[in-house]
Amino acid sequence: MKSKVYLIRLANLEKVQVVSDKLKRLLEESRVLDFIQPNTKVAVKMHFGEEGNTGFVKPEYLRIICARIFAQKARAFISDTNTLYRGRRTNSIDHLALAYEHGFVRQATGAEIIVPDDTKKENVITVPINQKFIKAAKVARIFVEADALVGVSHFKGHMMTGFGGALKNIGMGCAAREGKLRQHSEVLPIVYPEKCTGCAECEKACPVKAITIQNNKSVIAGTKCIGCATCIAVCPYSAIDVPWGSGAATIQEKMIEYAWAVLKNKKGKTGFLNFAIKITKECDCLAKDDLRVAPDIGILASIDPVSIDQASFDLVNQICGKDIFQELHPQRDGTLQLKYAHKLGLGNLDYELIEL
Ligand code: SF4
Ligand code: SF4
Repeated sequence: MKSKVYLIRLANLEKVQVVSDKLKRLLEESRVLDFIQPNTKVAVKMHFGEEGNTGFVKPEYLRIICARIFAQKARAFISDTNTLYRGRRTNSIDHLALAYEHGFVRQATGAEIIVPDDTKKENVITVPINQKFIKAAKVARIFVEADALVGVSHFKGHMMTGFGGALKNIGMGCAAREGKLRQHSEVLPIVYPEKCTGCAECEKACPVKAITIQNNKSVIAGTKCIGCATCIAVCPYSAIDVPWGSGAATIQEKMIEYAWAVLKNKKGKTGFLNFAIKITKECDCLAKDDLRVAPDIGILASIDPVSIDQASFDLVNQICGKDIFQELHPQRDGTLQLKYAHKLGLGNLDYELIEL
């Protein structure tokens, strides 16, 4: 069976006004948000971008998406969860302040911006799922209790999952901190001493002080490490990685089980938009402006989170003439997340691409 994935193409480095106009057309013609019912509460799942990062989907585009939800006579709010790693998005106060700095204010988007405080038990819900790795998922309550969910994702590479789009935005992005930790918990990195210069960048970045420099080499204390992967991202010499075949594969399956938990009660009540523009090597959690690794493609829309990610992945690789994500992250096979999501019934790998 094939799902419909709509695509509106963009030229490289298109102006905000042009992207906005095309996004409006995409929403009107694809009708992917038409499932939204009047008087319902719609969660728009976003990533507000780490400090210094510019890859996140701009507030101007969120305004258009929210306007479409309001036109269905529903209520919308824009939300994201706090991160496991240390940064400006680790707690709700700083996270919200950064979202405001990035332009996500009600005046700009038209919707309330909410970052639930996951240190408060009432903001976390346990969803029994009884899957292979996760038996009970710890999810931010706000997403589970919303009547409908719209996932707005920046499609790009990712240090742990090869690439990230709709599935990652939901699976990892809607998990409470405890849930994120559970997904990362077996992903303990290793140091390649021959590459390590002892520069201590990893030691400075580690959020739980699991790294020390001994004899000019980085040493990770497995008992302290929470598997957040920050050290992998910050090491300038690629001297830290996850041993292939263990954690790097498992994390994708756990992430998909979490996506399953979030979407469990939302059959027919979800829509997804992938922005395949400013495609970068790493995700928007990186606290710096990451470089483009592929030309801009456009915006995709679908009600199927698997198909939209599969189509985004295919389109990026087509335009690059090779599997760019495999090249950027040779130890990660990002397609594992797609295959497992399909296996769990989250969507189809086959899709019909409809260009508008
Ligand atoms: S950042 Fe990389 S090179 Fe520097 S100490 Fe850590 S592992 Fe070694
Ligand atoms: S050692 Fe690396 S993966 Fe572990 S907690 Fe520190 S930064 Fe995160």
